[in-house]
Amino acid sequence: MKYISTRGQAPALNFEDVLLTGLAADGGLYVPETLPQFSAADIEQMAELDYPQLAQKIIAPFVSDCIPEADLEAILQSTYAEFRHDAVAPLVQLDHNQWVLELFHGPTLAFKDFALQLLGRLLDYVLERKHQKVVIMGATSGDTGSAAIEGCKRCNNIDIFILHPHGRVSDVQRKQMTTVVGDNIHNLAVQGNFDDCQAMVKSSFNDRGFLPADRRLVAVNSINWARIMAQIVYYFYAAVALGAPARKMAFSVPTGNFGDIFAGYLAQQMGLPIERLIIATNSNDVLHRVLTSGTYGRQSLEHTLSPSMDITVSSNFERLLFDLYQRDGAAIGDLMSRFDAGDISFSAAAMDRAKTLFSSCRVSDDETREQIAATWDRCEYMLDPHSAIGVKAALDCDLPASVPVVTLATAHPAKFPDAVKQAGLDEAPSLPHHLRDLFERPERCEVLPNELAAVQAFMAGNINA
Ligand SMILES: *Cc1c(COP(=O)(O)O)cnc(C)c1O
Repeated sequence: MKYISTRGQAPALNFEDVLLTGLAADGGLYVPETLPQFSAADIEQMAELDYPQLAQKIIAPFVSDCIPEADLEAILQSTYAEFRHDAVAPLVQLDHNQWVLELFHGPTLAFKDFALQLLGRLLDYVLERKHQKVVIMGATSGDTGSAAIEGCKRCNNIDIFILHPHGRVSDVQRKQMTTVVGDNIHNLAVQGNFDDCQAMVKSSFNDRGFLPADRRLVAVNSINWARIMAQIVYYFYAAVALGAPARKMAFSVPTGNFGDIFAGYLAQQMGLPIERLIIATNSNDVLHRVLTSGTYGRQSLEHTLSPSMDITVSSNFERLLFDLYQRDGAAIGDLMSRFDAGDISFSAAAMDRAKTLFSSCRVSDDETREQIAATWDRCEYMLDPHSAIGVKAALDCDLPASVPVVTLATAHPAKFPDAVKQAGLDEAPSLPHHLRDLFERPERCEVLPNELAAVQAFMAGNINA
Protein backbone atom coordinates (compact mmCIF):
# COMPACT_ATOMS: atom_id res chain seq x y z
CA MET A 1 0.00 0.00 0.00
CA LYS A 2 1.28 3.44 -0.94
CA TYR A 3 0.40 6.61 0.92
CA ILE A 4 0.08 10.00 -0.76
CA SER A 5 -0.11 13.55 0.55
CA THR A 6 -3.35 15.54 0.50
CA ARG A 7 -1.43 18.42 -1.09
CA GLY A 8 0.02 16.34 -3.89
CA GLN A 9 3.60 17.64 -3.71
CA ALA A 10 5.34 15.17 -1.38
CA PRO A 11 6.76 11.75 -2.30
CA ALA A 12 4.53 8.69 -1.84
CA LEU A 13 5.59 6.54 1.11
CA ASN A 14 5.09 2.96 2.23
CA PHE A 15 3.49 2.11 5.57
CA GLU A 16 6.74 1.94 7.52
CA ASP A 17 7.78 5.44 6.49
CA VAL A 18 4.33 6.87 7.00
CA LEU A 19 4.40 5.50 10.53
CA LEU A 20 7.57 7.44 11.30
CA THR A 21 6.56 10.62 9.45
CA GLY A 22 4.20 13.27 10.75
CA LEU A 23 3.19 15.94 8.30
CA ALA A 24 4.14 15.38 4.69
CA ALA A 25 6.96 17.58 3.35
CA ASP A 26 4.40 19.74 1.49
CA GLY A 27 2.45 20.37 4.71
CA GLY A 28 -0.27 17.86 3.79
CA LEU A 29 -1.43 14.69 5.53
CA TYR A 30 -0.83 11.18 4.28
CA VAL A 31 -3.77 9.06 3.10
CA PRO A 32 -3.81 5.62 1.45
CA GLU A 33 -3.61 5.75 -2.33
CA THR A 34 -6.44 3.20 -2.58
CA LEU A 35 -8.72 1.58 -0.01
CA PRO A 36 -9.27 -2.15 0.46
CA GLN A 37 -12.85 -3.12 -0.41
CA PHE A 38 -15.08 -5.49 1.52
CA SER A 39 -18.14 -6.99 -0.21
CA ALA A 40 -21.42 -7.78 1.56
CA ALA A 41 -20.32 -11.42 1.69
CA ASP A 42 -16.99 -10.43 3.29
CA ILE A 43 -18.81 -8.36 5.91
CA GLU A 44 -21.23 -11.20 6.66
CA GLN A 45 -18.26 -13.42 7.47
CA MET A 46 -16.88 -10.86 9.92
CA ALA A 47 -19.59 -11.92 12.38
CA GLU A 48 -17.41 -14.93 13.23
CA LEU A 49 -14.40 -12.88 14.25
CA ASP A 50 -13.49 -11.58 17.69
CA TYR A 51 -12.04 -8.08 18.00
CA PRO A 52 -8.35 -8.86 17.39
CA GLN A 53 -9.21 -11.16 14.48
CA LEU A 54 -11.40 -8.48 12.91
CA ALA A 55 -8.62 -5.93 13.43
CA GLN A 56 -6.31 -8.23 11.50
CA LYS A 57 -8.78 -8.49 8.61
CA ILE A 58 -9.20 -4.71 8.36
CA ILE A 59 -5.61 -3.63 9.03
CA ALA A 60 -3.64 -6.26 7.08
CA PRO A 61 -4.22 -4.71 3.63
CA PHE A 62 -2.86 -1.36 4.89
CA VAL A 63 0.42 -2.80 6.19
CA SER A 64 0.96 -6.04 4.25
CA ASP A 65 4.06 -4.94 2.34
CA CYS A 66 5.82 -4.09 5.64
CA ILE A 67 4.51 -6.50 8.28
CA PRO A 68 4.06 -10.26 7.73
CA GLU A 69 0.63 -11.65 8.76
CA ALA A 70 1.95 -13.66 11.70
CA ASP A 71 3.78 -10.68 13.19
CA LEU A 72 0.72 -8.47 12.75
CA GLU A 73 -1.40 -11.08 14.47
CA ALA A 74 0.95 -11.16 17.48
CA ILE A 75 0.96 -7.36 17.69
CA LEU A 76 -2.85 -7.15 17.56
CA GLN A 77 -3.36 -9.93 20.09
CA SER A 78 -1.07 -8.18 22.55
CA THR A 79 -2.63 -4.76 21.86
CA TYR A 80 -6.19 -5.75 22.59
CA ALA A 81 -5.25 -8.02 25.50
CA GLU A 82 -4.63 -4.73 27.35
CA PHE A 83 -8.37 -3.97 27.30
CA ARG A 84 -10.36 -4.85 30.41
CA HIS A 85 -13.45 -6.18 28.65
CA ASP A 86 -13.67 -9.45 26.71
CA ALA A 87 -15.57 -7.75 23.90
CA VAL A 88 -12.92 -4.96 23.76
CA ALA A 89 -15.59 -2.57 22.37
CA PRO A 90 -18.94 -3.62 23.90
CA LEU A 91 -22.32 -2.19 22.83
CA VAL A 92 -24.89 -0.99 25.36
CA GLN A 93 -28.51 -0.27 24.46
CA LEU A 94 -30.10 2.96 25.69
CA ASP A 95 -33.37 2.93 23.80
CA HIS A 96 -35.16 1.11 20.99
CA ASN A 97 -32.72 2.27 18.34
CA GLN A 98 -30.09 4.04 20.42
CA TRP A 99 -26.83 2.31 21.21
CA VAL A 100 -23.59 3.27 22.87
CA LEU A 101 -20.28 1.74 21.79
CA GLU A 102 -18.04 1.76 24.86
CA LEU A 103 -14.55 2.63 23.74
CA PHE A 104 -13.16 3.25 27.22
CA HIS A 105 -12.07 -0.17 28.43
CA GLY A 106 -8.41 0.42 27.61
CA PRO A 107 -5.70 1.28 30.15
CA THR A 108 -6.37 5.05 30.22
CA LEU A 109 -10.19 4.94 29.92
CA ALA A 110 -10.51 6.83 26.63
CA PHE A 111 -10.85 5.69 23.02
CA LYS A 112 -7.34 6.95 22.25
CA ASP A 113 -6.03 3.67 23.69
CA PHE A 114 -7.33 1.84 20.61
CA ALA A 115 -4.88 3.70 18.43
CA LEU A 116 -2.01 4.43 20.80
CA GLN A 117 -1.66 0.91 22.22
CA LEU A 118 -1.24 -0.24 18.63
CA LEU A 119 0.94 2.67 17.55
CA GLY A 120 3.53 2.07 20.31
CA ARG A 121 3.80 -1.59 19.36
CA LEU A 122 4.02 -0.91 15.61
CA LEU A 123 6.74 1.69 16.13
CA ASP A 124 8.77 -0.58 18.36
CA TYR A 125 8.41 -3.46 15.89
CA VAL A 126 9.60 -1.37 12.95
CA LEU A 127 12.45 0.23 14.93
CA GLU A 128 13.69 -3.12 16.19
CA ARG A 129 13.96 -4.32 12.62
CA LYS A 130 15.75 -1.16 11.47
CA HIS A 131 18.05 -1.12 14.54
CA GLN A 132 16.95 2.43 15.24
CA LYS A 133 15.78 4.29 18.31
CA VAL A 134 13.58 7.37 18.41
CA VAL A 135 12.39 10.11 20.71
CA ILE A 136 8.67 10.86 20.89
CA MET A 137 7.74 14.35 21.98
CA GLY A 138 4.24 15.64 22.56
CA ALA A 139 2.22 18.20 24.47
CA THR A 140 -1.01 17.30 26.17
CA SER A 141 -3.84 18.97 27.98
CA GLY A 142 -5.47 15.66 28.79
CA ASP A 143 -6.23 12.30 27.20
CA THR A 144 -3.57 11.98 24.53
CA GLY A 145 -0.58 12.17 26.86
CA SER A 146 -1.60 9.34 29.12
CA ALA A 147 -2.66 7.12 26.24
CA ALA A 148 0.66 7.74 24.46
CA ILE A 149 2.65 7.01 27.61
CA GLU A 150 0.75 3.79 28.28
CA GLY A 151 1.22 2.81 24.65
CA CYS A 152 4.99 3.24 24.84
CA LYS A 153 5.73 1.86 28.26
CA ARG A 154 7.08 -1.47 27.06
CA CYS A 155 8.86 -0.12 23.98
CA ASN A 156 12.61 -0.71 24.06
CA ASN A 157 13.41 1.63 21.21
CA ILE A 158 11.48 4.71 22.26
CA ASP A 159 11.95 7.47 24.79
CA ILE A 160 8.75 9.42 25.26
CA PHE A 161 8.68 12.99 26.59
CA ILE A 162 5.22 14.40 27.31
CA LEU A 163 4.87 18.05 28.28
CA HIS A 164 1.86 19.20 30.25
CA PRO A 165 1.11 22.62 31.76
CA HIS A 166 2.10 22.41 35.43
CA GLY A 167 -0.93 22.46 37.73
CA ARG A 168 -3.39 22.76 34.83
CA VAL A 169 -4.43 19.21 34.06
CA SER A 170 -7.00 17.34 36.13
CA ASP A 171 -5.81 15.12 38.99
CA VAL A 172 -6.94 11.94 37.27
CA GLN A 173 -5.27 12.91 34.03
CA ARG A 174 -1.99 13.88 35.70
CA LYS A 175 -1.91 10.71 37.77
CA GLN A 176 -2.56 8.61 34.68
CA MET A 177 0.61 10.03 33.16
CA THR A 178 2.95 10.36 36.11
CA THR A 179 2.32 6.99 37.76
CA VAL A 180 3.36 4.92 34.75
CA VAL A 181 6.65 3.22 35.54
CA GLY A 182 9.47 3.01 33.00
CA ASP A 183 12.93 4.48 32.42
CA ASN A 184 11.88 5.53 28.93
CA ILE A 185 8.91 7.55 30.18
CA HIS A 186 9.42 11.23 30.95
CA ASN A 187 6.73 13.54 32.26
CA LEU A 188 7.61 17.20 32.02
CA ALA A 189 5.43 19.68 33.92
CA VAL A 190 6.16 23.02 32.28
CA GLN A 191 5.52 26.19 34.27
CA GLY A 192 3.38 27.68 31.53
CA ASN A 193 0.08 26.99 29.75
CA PHE A 194 -0.84 24.39 27.14
CA ASP A 195 -0.01 26.73 24.25
CA ASP A 196 3.51 27.22 25.67
CA CYS A 197 3.96 23.45 25.74
CA GLN A 198 2.70 23.09 22.20
CA ALA A 199 4.96 25.88 20.96
CA MET A 200 7.97 24.10 22.45
CA VAL A 201 7.04 20.89 20.67
CA LYS A 202 6.65 22.76 17.41
CA SER A 203 10.03 24.50 17.77
CA SER A 204 11.69 21.21 18.60
CA PHE A 205 10.34 19.57 15.46
CA ASN A 206 11.53 22.52 13.39
CA ASP A 207 15.06 22.33 14.80
CA ARG A 208 16.04 18.90 16.06
CA GLY A 209 19.69 19.79 16.67
CA PHE A 210 19.35 19.38 20.44
CA LEU A 211 19.06 15.60 20.10
CA PRO A 212 21.90 13.15 19.42
CA ALA A 213 22.35 12.64 15.67
CA ASP A 214 21.12 9.03 15.76
CA ARG A 215 17.72 9.88 17.30
CA ARG A 216 14.81 10.75 15.09
CA LEU A 217 12.02 12.85 16.61
CA VAL A 218 8.58 11.31 16.12
CA ALA A 219 5.09 12.71 16.70
CA VAL A 220 2.13 10.69 17.92
CA ASN A 221 -0.54 13.36 17.49
CA SER A 222 -3.81 12.63 15.78
CA ILE A 223 -2.52 13.25 12.28
CA ASN A 224 -0.50 10.02 12.45
CA TRP A 225 -2.05 7.71 9.88
CA ALA A 226 -1.71 4.57 12.04
CA ARG A 227 -4.04 6.09 14.63
CA ILE A 228 -6.81 6.56 12.07
CA MET A 229 -6.26 3.08 10.70
CA ALA A 230 -6.74 1.46 14.11
CA GLN A 231 -10.02 3.31 14.60
CA ILE A 232 -11.66 1.93 11.44
CA VAL A 233 -11.98 -1.47 13.09
CA TYR A 234 -14.61 -0.64 15.71
CA TYR A 235 -17.04 0.77 13.16
CA PHE A 236 -17.07 -2.63 11.46
CA TYR A 237 -17.22 -4.41 14.81
CA ALA A 238 -20.29 -2.50 16.03
CA ALA A 239 -22.10 -2.57 12.69
CA VAL A 240 -21.65 -6.31 12.26
CA ALA A 241 -22.84 -6.93 15.82
CA LEU A 242 -26.02 -4.98 15.00
CA GLY A 243 -26.77 -6.79 11.76
CA ALA A 244 -24.60 -5.35 8.98
CA PRO A 245 -24.44 -5.77 6.05
CA ALA A 246 -28.22 -6.45 6.02
CA ARG A 247 -28.96 -3.41 8.16
CA LYS A 248 -27.60 0.09 7.67
CA MET A 249 -26.77 2.19 10.71
CA ALA A 250 -25.71 5.66 11.71
CA PHE A 251 -22.87 6.70 13.99
CA SER A 252 -22.77 9.75 16.22
CA VAL A 253 -19.20 10.76 16.98
CA PRO A 254 -18.04 13.33 19.56
CA THR A 255 -15.55 15.18 17.41
CA GLY A 256 -12.51 17.39 17.92
CA ASN A 257 -9.69 16.87 15.44
CA PHE A 258 -11.88 14.80 13.09
CA GLY A 259 -9.68 11.70 13.49
CA ASP A 260 -12.25 9.36 14.97
CA ILE A 261 -15.07 10.26 12.59
CA PHE A 262 -12.75 10.21 9.59
CA ALA A 263 -12.12 6.56 10.43
CA GLY A 264 -15.90 6.04 10.15
CA TYR A 265 -15.87 7.67 6.74
CA LEU A 266 -13.12 5.28 5.64
CA ALA A 267 -15.14 2.30 6.92
CA GLN A 268 -18.02 3.47 4.73
CA GLN A 269 -15.71 3.90 1.74
CA MET A 270 -14.41 0.36 2.32
CA GLY A 271 -17.90 -1.05 1.92
CA LEU A 272 -19.58 -0.84 5.32
CA PRO A 273 -23.20 0.27 4.82
CA ILE A 274 -23.37 3.45 6.91
CA GLU A 275 -26.49 5.59 6.54
CA ARG A 276 -25.10 8.68 8.25
CA LEU A 277 -22.16 10.01 10.25
CA ILE A 278 -23.11 12.66 12.78
CA ILE A 279 -20.44 15.18 13.73
CA ALA A 280 -21.18 16.04 17.37
CA THR A 281 -19.30 19.12 18.60
CA ASN A 282 -19.26 21.24 21.74
CA SER A 283 -19.32 25.03 21.44
CA ASN A 284 -15.97 24.89 19.60
CA ASP A 285 -18.05 24.22 16.52
CA VAL A 286 -15.78 24.81 13.53
CA LEU A 287 -17.05 21.62 11.89
CA HIS A 288 -20.71 22.33 12.56
CA ARG A 289 -20.23 25.71 10.91
CA VAL A 290 -18.59 24.08 7.89
CA LEU A 291 -21.51 21.70 7.42
CA THR A 292 -24.18 24.34 7.87
CA SER A 293 -22.56 27.28 6.07
CA GLY A 294 -19.77 25.87 3.90
CA THR A 295 -17.34 28.28 5.57
CA TYR A 296 -14.24 27.14 7.42
CA GLY A 297 -12.79 29.64 9.85
CA ARG A 298 -10.97 29.96 13.14
CA GLN A 299 -12.73 31.24 16.24
CA SER A 300 -11.29 31.79 19.69
CA LEU A 301 -11.07 28.77 21.94
CA GLU A 302 -13.77 28.14 24.52
CA HIS A 303 -13.10 25.97 27.54
CA THR A 304 -15.99 23.53 27.90
CA LEU A 305 -17.01 20.54 29.98
CA SER A 306 -15.60 18.33 27.23
CA PRO A 307 -11.96 19.48 27.10
CA SER A 308 -10.76 16.79 24.70
CA MET A 309 -12.90 18.42 22.02
CA ASP A 310 -11.76 21.97 22.72
CA ILE A 311 -10.07 22.80 19.42
CA THR A 312 -10.17 25.69 16.97
CA VAL A 313 -8.87 23.85 13.90
CA SER A 314 -9.75 20.27 13.03
CA SER A 315 -6.54 19.02 11.48
CA ASN A 316 -7.81 15.74 10.05
CA PHE A 317 -10.61 17.49 8.18
CA GLU A 318 -8.09 18.07 5.42
CA ARG A 319 -8.15 14.33 4.75
CA LEU A 320 -11.89 14.46 4.02
CA LEU A 321 -11.52 17.63 1.95
CA PHE A 322 -9.05 15.83 -0.26
CA ASP A 323 -11.81 13.37 -1.23
CA LEU A 324 -14.51 16.05 -1.40
CA TYR A 325 -12.30 17.79 -3.98
CA GLN A 326 -11.88 14.49 -5.83
CA ARG A 327 -8.28 14.10 -4.72
CA ASP A 328 -7.06 17.29 -6.34
CA GLY A 329 -3.93 17.95 -4.24
CA ALA A 330 -3.24 21.30 -5.88
CA ALA A 331 -6.74 22.53 -4.94
CA ILE A 332 -6.22 21.45 -1.32
CA GLY A 333 -2.80 23.12 -1.16
CA ASP A 334 -4.38 26.32 -2.46
CA LEU A 335 -7.33 26.17 -0.01
CA MET A 336 -5.07 25.56 2.96
CA SER A 337 -2.70 28.38 2.12
CA ARG A 338 -5.71 30.73 1.93
CA PHE A 339 -6.98 29.32 5.25
CA ASP A 340 -3.76 30.48 6.91
CA ALA A 341 -4.78 34.01 5.94
CA GLY A 342 -8.47 33.87 6.95
CA ASP A 343 -11.85 32.18 6.48
CA ILE A 344 -12.36 30.06 3.38
CA SER A 345 -15.45 28.76 1.60
CA PHE A 346 -15.80 25.38 -0.04
CA SER A 347 -17.32 24.72 -3.45
CA ALA A 348 -21.00 23.80 -3.63
CA ALA A 349 -20.07 20.50 -5.24
CA ALA A 350 -17.76 19.61 -2.35
CA MET A 351 -20.39 20.54 0.23
CA ASP A 352 -23.05 18.50 -1.58
CA ARG A 353 -20.79 15.49 -1.44
CA ALA A 354 -20.18 16.01 2.29
CA LYS A 355 -23.88 16.29 3.03
CA THR A 356 -24.76 12.95 1.45
CA LEU A 357 -23.05 11.21 4.39
CA PHE A 358 -22.42 13.74 7.17
CA SER A 359 -24.65 15.85 9.33
CA SER A 360 -23.71 17.86 12.40
CA CYS A 361 -24.95 19.04 15.74
CA ARG A 362 -23.53 21.50 18.29
CA VAL A 363 -24.17 20.83 21.97
CA SER A 364 -23.69 23.43 24.71
CA ASP A 365 -22.41 22.79 28.23
CA ASP A 366 -25.96 23.17 29.58
CA GLU A 367 -27.26 20.58 27.13
CA THR A 368 -24.35 18.30 28.03
CA ARG A 369 -25.25 18.40 31.73
CA GLU A 370 -28.92 17.85 30.86
CA GLN A 371 -28.08 14.82 28.73
CA ILE A 372 -25.90 13.25 31.44
CA ALA A 373 -28.78 13.71 33.88
CA ALA A 374 -31.48 12.48 31.47
CA THR A 375 -29.62 9.31 30.50
CA TRP A 376 -28.94 8.56 34.16
CA ASP A 377 -32.59 9.15 34.97
CA ARG A 378 -34.00 6.96 32.23
CA CYS A 379 -31.40 4.18 31.95
CA GLU A 380 -29.25 4.47 35.06
CA TYR A 381 -26.36 4.75 32.66
CA MET A 382 -23.59 7.23 33.37
CA LEU A 383 -22.17 9.15 30.42
CA ASP A 384 -18.98 11.19 30.40
CA PRO A 385 -19.42 14.72 28.96
CA HIS A 386 -17.92 13.84 25.55
CA SER A 387 -20.16 10.81 25.10
CA ALA A 388 -23.14 12.84 26.32
CA ILE A 389 -22.60 15.24 23.41
CA GLY A 390 -22.69 12.26 21.08
CA VAL A 391 -25.90 10.92 22.58
CA LYS A 392 -27.59 14.31 22.44
CA ALA A 393 -26.65 14.63 18.75
CA ALA A 394 -27.92 11.09 18.10
CA LEU A 395 -31.29 11.90 19.68
CA ASP A 396 -31.65 15.17 17.80
CA CYS A 397 -30.79 13.91 14.32
CA ASP A 398 -33.87 13.23 12.25
CA LEU A 399 -33.19 9.76 10.90
CA PRO A 400 -35.93 7.20 10.18
CA ALA A 401 -36.81 5.26 13.35
CA SER A 402 -35.70 2.05 11.66
CA VAL A 403 -32.06 3.15 11.54
CA PRO A 404 -30.07 2.25 14.66
CA VAL A 405 -27.79 5.04 15.84
CA VAL A 406 -24.56 4.10 17.57
CA THR A 407 -22.91 6.79 19.70
CA LEU A 408 -19.22 6.35 20.30
CA ALA A 409 -18.61 6.64 24.04
CA THR A 410 -15.11 8.07 23.93
CA ALA A 411 -14.28 8.26 27.65
CA HIS A 412 -15.22 6.70 30.97
CA PRO A 413 -17.22 9.04 33.26
CA ALA A 414 -14.66 8.62 36.06
CA LYS A 415 -12.21 10.62 33.96
CA PHE A 416 -14.48 13.65 34.22
CA PRO A 417 -16.05 13.44 37.69
CA ASP A 418 -16.59 17.18 37.89
CA ALA A 419 -18.88 17.33 34.87
CA VAL A 420 -20.87 14.38 36.19
CA LYS A 421 -21.22 16.14 39.53
CA GLN A 422 -22.38 19.32 37.81
CA ALA A 423 -25.12 17.28 36.11
CA GLY A 424 -26.56 16.70 39.58
CA LEU A 425 -26.33 12.90 39.67
CA ASP A 426 -26.92 11.30 43.05
CA GLU A 427 -23.91 9.08 42.52
CA ALA A 428 -20.27 9.82 41.70
CA PRO A 429 -18.54 7.82 38.96
CA SER A 430 -16.02 5.36 40.36
CA LEU A 431 -12.77 4.37 38.74
CA PRO A 432 -12.69 0.82 37.32
CA HIS A 433 -11.03 -1.77 39.50
CA HIS A 434 -7.61 -1.69 37.84
CA LEU A 435 -7.29 2.00 38.69
CA ARG A 436 -8.79 2.00 42.17
CA ASP A 437 -5.40 2.67 43.77
CA LEU A 438 -4.44 5.36 41.21
CA PHE A 439 -4.31 8.09 43.83
CA GLU A 440 -1.97 6.09 46.07
CA ARG A 441 0.58 5.35 43.36
CA PRO A 442 3.85 7.29 43.45
CA GLU A 443 4.28 9.97 40.78
CA ARG A 444 7.33 10.69 38.65
CA CYS A 445 7.42 14.09 37.04
CA GLU A 446 9.99 16.80 36.34
CA VAL A 447 8.88 20.39 36.91
CA LEU A 448 10.67 22.66 34.43
CA PRO A 449 10.67 26.40 33.81
CA ASN A 450 8.78 27.72 30.80
CA GLU A 451 11.96 27.86 28.67
CA LEU A 452 12.67 25.93 25.53
CA ALA A 453 16.37 25.57 26.32
CA ALA A 454 15.63 24.02 29.72
CA VAL A 455 13.20 21.50 28.23
CA GLN A 456 15.55 20.55 25.42
CA ALA A 457 18.54 20.22 27.76
CA PHE A 458 16.50 17.94 30.01
CA MET A 459 15.53 15.79 27.06
CA ALA A 460 19.05 15.51 25.68
CA GLY A 461 20.33 14.51 29.11
CA ASN A 462 17.71 11.87 29.82
CA ILE A 463 17.59 9.57 26.84
CA ASN A 464 17.52 6.04 28.22
CA ALA A 465 16.25 3.71 25.51
C1 LIG B 1 -9.64 12.98 21.62
C2 LIG B 1 -11.03 12.84 22.13
C3 LIG B 1 -12.15 13.18 21.34
C4 LIG B 1 -12.03 13.78 19.94
O1 LIG B 1 -11.51 12.86 19.02
P1 LIG B 1 -11.01 13.38 17.57
O2 LIG B 1 -10.44 12.19 16.90
O3 LIG B 1 -9.99 14.45 17.86
O4 LIG B 1 -12.20 13.92 16.87
C5 LIG B 1 -13.41 12.97 21.87
N1 LIG B 1 -13.57 12.49 23.12
C6 LIG B 1 -12.53 12.15 23.91
C7 LIG B 1 -12.78 11.65 25.28
C8 LIG B 1 -11.21 12.31 23.45
O5 LIG B 1 -10.18 12.00 24.24
